[in-house]
Amino acid sequence: MLVKQGTKNIPILMYHSISQSAESADPGFKALCVPPALFAAQVDYLYRSGYTILNVTQLINALAGKALLPERPVVLTFDDGYADFYDHALPVLSRYHLTATLYIATGFVERTSLWLRWKEETGHPILTWDQIVEISNSGIECGAHTQSHPKLHRLPLATARDEIRCSKDLLEQYLGREVTSFAYPYGGYSSGVRRLVKEAGFTSACAVNDAMCSDKADPFTLDRLMVTPNMDMNAFGALFTQKEPSQLRKIYMSARIPVRQALLHGFGIAVLRRNMGLFLMRR
Ligand SMILES: [Zn+2]
Repeated sequence: MLVKQGTKNIPILMYHSISQSAESADPGFKALCVPPALFAAQVDYLYRSGYTILNVTQLINALAGKALLPERPVVLTFDDGYADFYDHALPVLSRYHLTATLYIATGFVERTSLWLRWKEETGHPILTWDQIVEISNSGIECGAHTQSHPKLHRLPLATARDEIRCSKDLLEQYLGREVTSFAYPYGGYSSGVRRLVKEAGFTSACAVNDAMCSDKADPFTLDRLMVTPNMDMNAFGALFTQKEPSQLRKIYMSARIPVRQALLHGFGIAVLRRNMGLFLMRR
């Protein structure tokens, strides 16, 4: 963990699904699932340890001097918009009156996570618009995560711009409020993509990198720490001082296949299966 001298560490935690993954689930998806009881224990730990939990825009406002930065800030983020956020994360956050940022791939709302169709997986349920409105009204920040969850840095810039702007516009249409935070799918971006996000009117964007953020960070490439599925409280506490990228990050970055791009380029499921086979051979 390289943090400049004189900077303040700010952990931004990254979750995906809060669920007990099925034994038969794809290993790539299992790596994204934190069991509900474990999540509840982690939130309780943060609360009792004196952390102040912020959403991403609250952090950005504090870093810009528009609000006070708490002594021990932690930011909670949830990527993709899985329906289990409503069932398992929202009740816990509401119990403690906590906020978080939920990043939604808007093209899959009320459907399933098509982009995760590895092998025989059929996708996982994504929130409905009614649930997203309720979540937003409960004090959770809803951020954009593109329309179709592509690797933005591999798209033509005009297509990437549409992905970024459409997700923002659609969320704002349903929520009736400005959407100011963005998360790059797969954590992938380029200088051009970063510029597009800024031009679209966002004030922040989260990457992945599995690293500690700091108060000197670029608001458009915020590092996050990945929460692994089986962290006990000791491991969870150690997350805030980790020095090496976790194994989970390595799996995450290599396993997720850009389904949309493959389909756009005329490849079929056979190609996706072959890619998955190559991934399994590499591990
Ligand atoms: Zn995602």
